[in-house]
Amino acid sequence: MIIRRRNFLKQISAGVTAVSAFTSQAWAKPTAKPIVVSTWEHGINANAEAWKILDKGGSALDAVEAGVRVTEAEDNLSVGYGGLPDRDGNVTLDACIMDENGDCGSVAFLEGIKHPISVARMVMEKTPHVMMVGQGALQFALDQGFKQENLLTERAEKAWQEWLKEAEYKPIINVENHDTIGMVALDAQGNLSGACTTSGLAYKMHGRVGDSPIIGAGLFVDNEVGAATATGMGEAVIKVCGAHLIVELMRQGNSPQQACEKAVRRISQQKNAKDIQIGFLAISKQGEVGAYSLQPGFNFAQYAQGTNQMKDVGSFYS
Ligand code: ASP
Repeated sequence: MIIRRRNFLKQISAGVTAVSAFTSQAWAKPTAKPIVVSTWEHGINANAEAWKILDKGGSALDAVEAGVRVTEAEDNLSVGYGGLPDRDGNVTLDACIMDENGDCGSVAFLEGIKHPISVARMVMEKTPHVMMVGQGALQFALDQGFKQENLLTERAEKAWQEWLKEAEYKPIINVENHDTIGMVALDAQGNLSGACTTSGLAYKMHGRVGDSPIIGAGLFVDNEVGAATATGMGEAVIKVCGAHLIVELMRQGNSPQQACEKAVRRISQQKNAKDIQIGFLAISKQGEVGAYSLQPGFNFAQYAQGTNQMKDVGSFYS
């Protein structure tokens, strides 16, 4: 079921299949350092925490970890604690983090740990590896002193029970269930870092992992060029290595806005593009911001020059 079915039908009846004009919003202009941006409304609280660190001259890496931890701890239905479970009732979490040196860490299919982003950071800092999954990631987290806890809230369990009545065994995407937080920041020293964390698609198949913990798909940082993150149907993002694609487009001279729009256009060529949502968010080394989505409805939070505010984003399908 697509979220913008009405708009889509309107386009069909008008003989128009896509609207893809490039946009140049005022907010896309360069801003002063530091700056932090993150996906969706929950980005406001997350940015506020990240800003405390950036404002004191702290590192973008510390800021993005602290920022997304706020969302992980909030009782929302899509990140960390309270996230909607997979189709078998298990809350499985994916997260990754990347710093200005190109170092990165990631965990996927992790259960029972409220702050997967901090486990991902420990994978980066304390192991020779980049990615750990499932039981191994859990064991690593426990060894590092993380506490195991039940992340399935009553609210999420109720929603799952409701879904079970019809139990359509396929991943669905709509405004209610794609709310990953992806955060990218530029600190006062001019260094970039990013973090991305999610409970993934609601009612996904057990064991399914999306783009969010995949370096280059859900998140990519190149300290010479810029940083990008993604939200929405992870399978579509993985197929184009979305965040890496955007950073490489910026390297070739595109602004973050142009790069996000080009990446969305690339995804629009996938066969199910009309039925899914994808949102990209990027910043350049200069602090310029860009964002674009496949379907209307995507927004992000931006904290810069002492102001934390929501920004609406243009979309490929109107
Ligand atoms: N990208 C996430 C995933 O595919 C979900 C989302 O952002 O809604 O797991």
